[in-house]
Amino acid sequence: MRTIIEPFRVRSVEPIRATTRTERQAALEAAGWNLFGLAGRDVLIDLLTDSGTGAMSSEQWAAIMRGDESYAGSPSFERFETVVRELTGFTHVIPTHQGRAAERILFSELVGDGDIVPNNTHFDTTRANIEHQGAEARDLIWPDNEDLPLVAPFKGDTDVDALEALLAGPDGARVPLVTTTVTNNSGGGQPVSLGNLHQVREVCARFGVPFFLDAARFAENAWFIGQREEGQQGRHPRDIARDMFRAADGCWISLKKDGLGNIGGVLAMNDPDLAERCRALLILTEGFPTYGGLAGRDLEALAQGLIEVTDPEYLAYRVRTAEYLAELAWDAGVPTVRPPGGHAVYLDAKALLPHIPAYEFPAQALACELYLTGGVRGVEIGTLMFGRPREGQAHDHVARHELVRLALPRRTYTQSHVDYVGEVIGDVAGRADELRGLRIVSQPRWLRHFTAQLTPLAG
Ligand SMILES: *Cc1c(COP(=O)(O)O)cnc(C)c1O
Repeated sequence: MRTIIEPFRVRSVEPIRATTRTERQAALEAAGWNLFGLAGRDVLIDLLTDSGTGAMSSEQWAAIMRGDESYAGSPSFERFETVVRELTGFTHVIPTHQGRAAERILFSELVGDGDIVPNNTHFDTTRANIEHQGAEARDLIWPDNEDLPLVAPFKGDTDVDALEALLAGPDGARVPLVTTTVTNNSGGGQPVSLGNLHQVREVCARFGVPFFLDAARFAENAWFIGQREEGQQGRHPRDIARDMFRAADGCWISLKKDGLGNIGGVLAMNDPDLAERCRALLILTEGFPTYGGLAGRDLEALAQGLIEVTDPEYLAYRVRTAEYLAELAWDAGVPTVRPPGGHAVYLDAKALLPHIPAYEFPAQALACELYLTGGVRGVEIGTLMFGRPREGQAHDHVARHELVRLALPRRTYTQSHVDYVGEVIGDVAGRADELRGLRIVSQPRWLRHFTAQLTPLAG
């Protein structure tokens, strides 16, 4: 088998800047030991997120020039709407400036105080937007997902029995909609099988509850289905993606992921009354329904991105990159969530740093050390992101896992960049027992990981 190569050549380059450890130490201290506080120019390889950080294709840049900036009825919206309808099958296509705007609009209409919104594993903005409505964001992930090293094909699947029990039980009436995230970003970027989506749909239909997909990485999920699901092998990822959307009543998509865009989102559904109410809210905060917070040129680039992203060669390269980085981590003795996700590798900080308790943020300590060692920026997905202060207690509620996500921007870094990241992981792993935890100095009420300030604990 030959090397799976980057299926593109580079036509525009952006320099990246090397720094010294002393410079990085000063930068991290100034950022309050929060990697979100760093200036991008102080980062060498930026794996903070795959959201909006990818490279656009020559066809997308060409589409940008076609962008029509009519306030109402732009032909760029028509192209966008046509592509989203072809892909998802949903009648009503509502553009938003990014995924969380779609979440806020949808949940403002559907979710109320005391409600429960089930999902496989809620993404952080999804959870925050649900909680902002006074509702509970409940994760109903298949129990296999908890076993990080276990290799299984669809660890993103919803626990359908638990969903059915919830809907049939005393709290069933408190569930205004059911959601599934594909791939399951917060749960290790693991895919959801088509069979599971159909089972969730069947349960939702039986209880008369709408089913929405949080479909930021629909194309990667479709690729995994084509590789791993019985009866789906050999199908084109686009056909699989179309079937995934047709299992649901609606969806929202952060188009900064598999839209291959630098900004954008969409909310789509079949229910005309709900769409009408969502459009009214859209006008209030995002813009007129034919642009929804985006420029006409953005809509053009996204329409083209939504066509390119299901290319099998692109998806083979994309998924192989994450797998290759995971193999480098394993070679360095660093455990990860297995199998690797489609867009990212999740290092298991709890396993690597057993001497740092969860309430001292081991994954944040690891992420900080990767930056200090090699200028590599990842993100903590652990107690800093999902923990909570407890009334009258010294320590926070802790998260189930302590992970560092190294997310790969789309079509942006080359194999030697990934090799370099592997070397940095190896360097840090060799000194794992020297790492120390951190404590929070200040934190906001919502989404604390973005802006909390921390300080390292004395060694
Ligand atoms: C990124 C993301 C969102 C939020 O979208 P933004 O474009 O960042 O606002 C929601 N759900 C999932 C699964 C995501 O990955």
